[in-house]
Amino acid sequence: MADELDPFILSQKQLDNAAELMDLDPIAHAMLREPMQTVTANFPVEMRDGNKKIFTGFRVLYNDARGPGKGGIRFHPKENLDTVKALSAWMTWKCSLANIQFGGAKGGVIVDTKQLNQKELENLSRAYIRTFAKFIGPKTDVPAPDVYTNPQIMGWMMDEYSKIKMDNEFAVITGKPLEVWGSEGRFDSTALGGMYVLREAAKLKNMNLLGSKIAIQGFGNAGNFAFDLVTKLFGATVVAISDSEGGVYSENGLDYEKLKKAKADTGSIDGYKGAKKITNDELLKLDVDVLIPAAIENQVTKKNADKIEAKILLELANGPVTPDADDILFNNGVLDMPDFLVNSGGVIVSYFEWVQNIESYYWSKEEVYKKLDTIITKSFKDVIEKQKEYAAKGKKVDARMAAYSIAVSRVANAMKARGWY
Ligand code: NAD
Repeated sequence: MADELDPFILSQKQLDNAAELMDLDPIAHAMLREPMQTVTANFPVEMRDGNKKIFTGFRVLYNDARGPGKGGIRFHPKENLDTVKALSAWMTWKCSLANIQFGGAKGGVIVDTKQLNQKELENLSRAYIRTFAKFIGPKTDVPAPDVYTNPQIMGWMMDEYSKIKMDNEFAVITGKPLEVWGSEGRFDSTALGGMYVLREAAKLKNMNLLGSKIAIQGFGNAGNFAFDLVTKLFGATVVAISDSEGGVYSENGLDYEKLKKAKADTGSIDGYKGAKKITNDELLKLDVDVLIPAAIENQVTKKNADKIEAKILLELANGPVTPDADDILFNNGVLDMPDFLVNSGGVIVSYFEWVQNIESYYWSKEEVYKKLDTIITKSFKDVIEKQKEYAAKGKKVDARMAAYSIAVSRVANAMKARGWY
């Protein structure tokens, strides 16, 4: 992988920029450039023919100065250690910005789950836990679902860990099914958290969301809930949406139920009748109030950043805006809300699940939503306050760098308080 595309090198560059801005202690900076613990292991899994096959898995604990590691386990054919390391760094900053009692971690297995039957998937999930049980735990490192892993897999993993410990270890993993004490409100928590950020961003921009025009890139888990919520919560109009095949646009707004049906019937939103077909690139440049990238990374780049007409860019996806586009957006007055603030709702509700598991006392969906709103709104306000602080010192800093500066300084301060440097 070319250096500039290596996600871990990118994550280190982002840290370096924040460190310079904050005048971070050089020892803290050096410690924060690398994970604290990186484990790679090969392990056997019994396949349908009775033979064993060897798989390679990873678990990286980036930093646990503020609490147990936290981060998903991905099952992906192209999984690699550098991606897991980068994702574990981003989890550290995300948990720190949300100010929840977690550090950052991430895990993965190199596997194409489409080649596995259900029993093989269960065998793989249990074998992963047997292999990495020494490195995870409710007080050390708490995994969760991610790409191609789901609540059922979390249920098997929790069960395997509980068998090893001869106990009921619900708090070892989050994103579990409700039957084994997952949290209410986990499903739409990422998109809902993003909505609370949008509400606050709109206030800052004096924008009335009622009747505002929204374009969403992606109609998967994040984009789907985002569509439903912007209309239900704010009365906004979604004028465009896309998936990997392309998008649809209607000036008067798209119908959510019709769109879901088109997707279910044809496998793509392309089948939506009565709207104009557009490309993903055209969607990004539409004259809308709010643009919500909710698909994949590297969508707004220096090539198209100048053409973004939206006043607010809400990064529900991870990494949709490249670093070279940040300055262009900032100079053009686009309020770009960074991914690790906007999509932190998922990990915040994961944190609630862990807290509830530890207390063995459970909250209603309404309580979960209310607590999520309190935490994410506080994060938003912290970021805006930090920008103002820098502005008062004559430094023009975008929301991403302000968020980094808060997150990194909290982790550095925790390391200092523990006497690590
Ligand atoms: P998903 O796989 O459910 O959906 C992805 C969507 O993006 C699909 O509609 C797909 O067709 C579309 N897509 C793929 N390639 C595209 C392209 N080139 N152009 C336009 N659309 C394209 O994934 P998801 O869970 O919705 O996640 C989307 C993003 O949100 C990712 O960046 C993910 O990391 C981030 N995110 C999701 C969650 C969550 O809880 N789901 C949490 C945090 C971050």
